[in-house]
Amino acid sequence: MPETGDSKYKGTRGHSPREGLGRLRRANRKDIARISGWESRQDDDAYLEKHGHVGRRSHAGESLLARFNRLADDHRDELNSGESGEVCGFAGKTVLVRDAAGIEHDCQVRQMLKKRISGVKNPLCIGDRVRVTRETGGMVIAAVEPRRNQLARADSHNRSLIHVFAANVDCLLATSALAEPDLKYGLLDRYLLIAASNGIPAAVALTKTDLADPTVPLALYHKLGVPAFGVAALTGGGDLSALREHLRGKSCVIAGQSGVGKSSLINALYPELAARTGRVATAGHGRHTTTSSRSYPLADGGRLIDTPGVRECGITGMVTLDVALLYSDIALHHPQCRFVDCSHLHEPDCAVRAAVERGDIAKSRYESYRSIVCEDLGGK
Ligand code: GDP
Ligand code: ZN
Repeated sequence: MPETGDSKYKGTRGHSPREGLGRLRRANRKDIARISGWESRQDDDAYLEKHGHVGRRSHAGESLLARFNRLADDHRDELNSGESGEVCGFAGKTVLVRDAAGIEHDCQVRQMLKKRISGVKNPLCIGDRVRVTRETGGMVIAAVEPRRNQLARADSHNRSLIHVFAANVDCLLATSALAEPDLKYGLLDRYLLIAASNGIPAAVALTKTDLADPTVPLALYHKLGVPAFGVAALTGGGDLSALREHLRGKSCVIAGQSGVGKSSLINALYPELAARTGRVATAGHGRHTTTSSRSYPLADGGRLIDTPGVRECGITGMVTLDVALLYSDIALHHPQCRFVDCSHLHEPDCAVRAAVERGDIAKSRYESYRSIVCEDLGGK
């Protein structure tokens, strides 16, 4: 791209401009002085466009990711200093960073970096790739790399506040038991929505296949294109090895209600982790109610991220259309509705409701959609 005109918009430096919306916005843009890094929305938009979000309304989490990455990009030079590491835990103001050799170090965050990323609830999170330097007072985090994605949610009381729980996540594994407790389609769909809205690939694990047949629910999620596995952690049966293979080398967050068998599953999947840390209990578990997140390295190069961020499964920070477009089966029929902004709840000539009646969209999917739109989002 010609470095002239656009080069002052640091977020787009080195990337070719996209046709269409971005160009239009840039053409209309006044050459306003940049305020502080965190306040330049137009640069964030450019970042979102680069990431393929044209045409869909961005939500707060996406804007935050764009802002974060633009800042990281602005200070690219610092990424050449020190050694690389990965944030794996927190202890008060100290950040735990795992180095390339797998050793964990207590680190402080450089004052400059703190200032730059102020304004968010938790500027650094589990999974952030950072550069650390050794200084007289100890190890210091000097820079943070752009994130591939992040698990974020709007605060349920203050929508403008975004909590970020983990970054660079390769898989959100949504779990539900087939029985004891009952299979919860609605909850699985909420996890899938949270994953989709954060740009995180999802998979489904249905536990306790020794108690009920997983065929029908597995088929539902396969049809949606979501990798789905039926597992019996206690007997080692079902698709346990296929699931292990699917997660190989990935950074994974496991979400699910207490009692569905997450800890048993983790222990069956990763016995080496259980041996090292004692029986792993996931966040949300009675005796492990810490609000802090942690990541554990796995022998296959992957990571298991334990975060309370997936404990709450209420949907916040979205509008009806976001949900409709992030539900892949609903999004497929949405363009055939009479109204472009059809909520699929009561409008005439609704292609989505017709598809539900024909059996092309599963009833459980439509029900969970309706529950999210009507109950969580108040029909907005
Ligand atoms: P968590 O709360 O999600 O971490 O669940 P746990 O791993 O603690 O398991 C909850 C209960 O489910 C325990 O009593 C386990 O013994 C039981 N459980 C876990 N996996 C299985 C399974 O594959 N089959 C059966 N029948 N029970 C299981
Ligand atoms: Zn409709």
